[in-house]
Amino acid sequence: MIEAIADQLARARRVLFITGAGISADSGLPTYRGTGGLYDGRHTEEGISIERALSGPMFRSRPEITWKYLAQIEETCRGAQPNAAHAAIVYLERRLPYVLTLTQNVDGLHRAAGSREVIEIHGGLHELYCPRCGYAEAVETLAGRQLPPPCPDCGAILRPAVVLFDEALPVAALERLDTALDEGFDMVFTIGTSATFPYIVQPVVMALQDGVPTVEINPTRTPLSEHVDFYLPLGAAAAMSAIVDAYERT
Ligand SMILES: [Zn+2]
Repeated sequence: MIEAIADQLARARRVLFITGAGISADSGLPTYRGTGGLYDGRHTEEGISIERALSGPMFRSRPEITWKYLAQIEETCRGAQPNAAHAAIVYLERRLPYVLTLTQNVDGLHRAAGSREVIEIHGGLHELYCPRCGYAEAVETLAGRQLPPPCPDCGAILRPAVVLFDEALPVAALERLDTALDEGFDMVFTIGTSATFPYIVQPVVMALQDGVPTVEINPTRTPLSEHVDFYLPLGAAAAMSAIVDAYERT
């Protein structure tokens, strides 16, 4: 199966990688939602669901609660390095005419690995901005910061540029994705995503309808597993390393 995937890749000109928390699992990161997640099925100390603690309405009314859990997520991401799966996508991006990565992750590891064409559909944890005055800064870490962090210009509470629950996806990112999908892909991968969001599933469904080869890499089966052309029940780093090795032999 790995060889067949590599053969398809060798012929491909436009490839889409859709990635979720599973690709960062090999960098030691837990997910904050989904199976194996940090808060899976649990309530917070405040007695509310993690989704509510990390929601837009909660940030507006009780930002200290949202920030408490944002800070925990940031702490688990701190020091994490891209792994072989991130590196494999960078490798392919440098060799194929066009490779786009659509990620649900807010950990910034695709960019840290060197990927250039990345749509972070849920935003990034390492950019802070002020919802009141528009002040913005990039941060390496929140270690040692006062939390919630005050805006140095106006004193309002800064927030990270992530999409909180009950918030809309960023329009610019969605438009960029739509444009890329309109131009089409000739191979679509999903890696480590539970495939529950429509904007994650839709590109795969479009590919299946158009007869475009699809690959799913996930140790756990998802609703997509029985439909894709190639389902690899493997971790992201192991699978992508094997695919790149086979690609180099084509
Ligand atoms: Zn401000």
